[in-house]
Order: sequence, then C-alpha cells, then structure tokens
Amino acid sequence: MARRPFVAGNWKMHTTLVEARALMKGIREHLSPDLAVDVAVCPPATLLYPFGREVDGTAIKVGAQNVHFEPKGAFTGEISPGMLKAAGCAYVIIGHSERRALFGEGGDFLRKKVIASLSEGLEVIFCVGESLSEREASETMHVVERQMDEVLSSDMDSSRLTVAYEPVWAIGTGRNATPEQAQEVHAFIRGKIGSIFGAEAASNLRIQYGGSVKPGNAAGLMACADVDGALVGGACLVAEDFVSIISAAAASVGG
Ligand code: PEP
Repeated sequence: MARRPFVAGNWKMHTTLVEARALMKGIREHLSPDLAVDVAVCPPATLLYPFGREVDGTAIKVGAQNVHFEPKGAFTGEISPGMLKAAGCAYVIIGHSERRALFGEGGDFLRKKVIASLSEGLEVIFCVGESLSEREASETMHVVERQMDEVLSSDMDSSRLTVAYEPVWAIGTGRNATPEQAQEVHAFIRGKIGSIFGAEAASNLRIQYGGSVKPGNAAGLMACADVDGALVGGACLVAEDFVSIISAAAASVGG
C-alpha cells in the first residue's frame, strides 16, 4: 500500500497574526478537504496557540519549528514539548539546517529534542541534508548517515517520525534537487531506517523532500518512489502555491 503523503509548510520567521490569518484563509479556500494527504503548517511560535485551536477538527495540523528538550525550568526563551502539545501542536521540526548552521545545533542536542518530543506525544519531522561542498566531495550519503546515527535509535517510536531530506544547497536557493538526486538519497535514507528500526518501519516511514519545492517541480519530485511529500519553505507562504504542492503530492498516489 502506498504511503500517505505528508506536506508541511515551514513558515520560518514570517507573519504576524493578521498576515497569518490571511494566509490560512487562502490555504483553506483552495484546499480540497478530501485529499489523501496529511498537511501541517509550522508558523512562528507566537501563532501556535491561536492556530492550534483554529485548526482543531480540520484537515490541517499545526507544527512548531523548534523545541527544547527539558520539560520546564530556567531556559530563557525556550519552549518545552509539553508546552507545544498544550498549545495544540501535533508536529515539531527538529534538526532544520538553519538551526544547525545558525544556532549550532547538532548531535546529542538534537537527539535529546527528538526523545523528549516523542515521549510527549508529538510527531517529529527530523531534517537531514548535506551542504554543497559535501555533495561536491561525494560525501552526501556519509553525512546523511552520520546525522541519522547521531539522533535516531531503535528504542524510539518510529511511527511518529518523519525524515525530511533537505539538501542545504537547495534550501531557499531556487535550485532544487533533481528527482533522480532526491530519489537516490531517499532510497538510502529508507535503507538506513530499515537498519535502525526494521523492515516494517522502513516501508511505513514517510520521507519528505525539502529544498526549493515549487508548484512547477513538485509533481516530478513527488513521483519518485521514495519521496512521500515535502517540507516547503518559501512556497508555503503563498496559499495557491502551497495548495498546488499538496495537490501534486495527492496526485502522486492517485488521490
Ligand atoms: C526549508 O526551509 O525547509 C525549505 C525547504 O525552504 P525552501 O522551500 O524555501 O527551499
């Protein structure tokens, strides 16, 4: 059976409440409610609480862009998994390349976030991906494998895990991976999931592609056997574009 595609929009540090409401209205207006796709929006933290309530009972779920692993305490500026859950979040993005590169996150720090989020009942979108210099040095698989080994282990609940393959050179650059490049890495990631969690998890776990996904390239990427949706940055801020990517994901499984 085909995996149900999953498309998530990473709004990054964009939108005030007024702007966000207009964007959500546009997404709702264009989105057909019976598409066979899971959809999440990941707005800035200030919007998680209102949106968590507003989307309750709709086809759209809310995710956070970041989380801390401690449940509470003197961690100025941080938000715990339990707080995200109470705000109405279903998902959290962990290991995005901007968090890795700009905020020094990696390895054990990310692993703690994944463990804490899963144990709080959140679904985790765990991002991996190589830089341009790593790709040019033919180190892509090695980097992706290391990022997975640092964070994932067989004692985690893989049923609440999504892996997003996001080549850093494709994020926000307008230069997406070709379907062949994406498929090659996604197949590698699926094999690695199999060796960590077993064959059943490997066949069930969804692997999103992220990096300059647009309406014009989504169908080609979604048609790849091991691409199960997208993590979308820039294009998710335009309602019609985001919905068009969701529709391409639905079409890839005949929905
Ligand atoms: C992202 O930041 O996760 C992303 C994929 O961004 P963009 O779609 O803009 O490349």
